[in-house]
Amino acid sequence: MQAPEHSMPVYVTQYLCEQRHCIVAMAWEDGGAETRDTVEHKLLSITREMKINPWCGLCGSAKLHFEHALSPFATLAEAMPSLNECQEAQRLTREHFARLPKPN
Ligand SMILES: [Zn+2]
Repeated sequence: MQAPEHSMPVYVTQYLCEQRHCIVAMAWEDGGAETRDTVEHKLLSITREMKINPWCGLCGSAKLHFEHALSPFATLAEAMPSLNECQEAQRLTREHFARLPKPN
């Protein structure tokens, strides 16, 4: 498959714990308005605005880091169906864990 004429590499940046459980993530096009720094800043802002705990809800680790990885997509538009599918799967996972009894 040939890349679209206006393609820019699409990266996915994840905010992860040491065991690679993802707290929050964002897809972005390299060469556009975003840089690794602006994306990291946005993810931290989202974490604060959504009142997401600054530690992993699965393993409890507070040692979080960013990871930037090149996706196989040539544009964000091309990536959107896959991103939407992943977002829905994450929403269902959150709902599942929210229904489980909380440890004291
Ligand atoms: Zn974790």
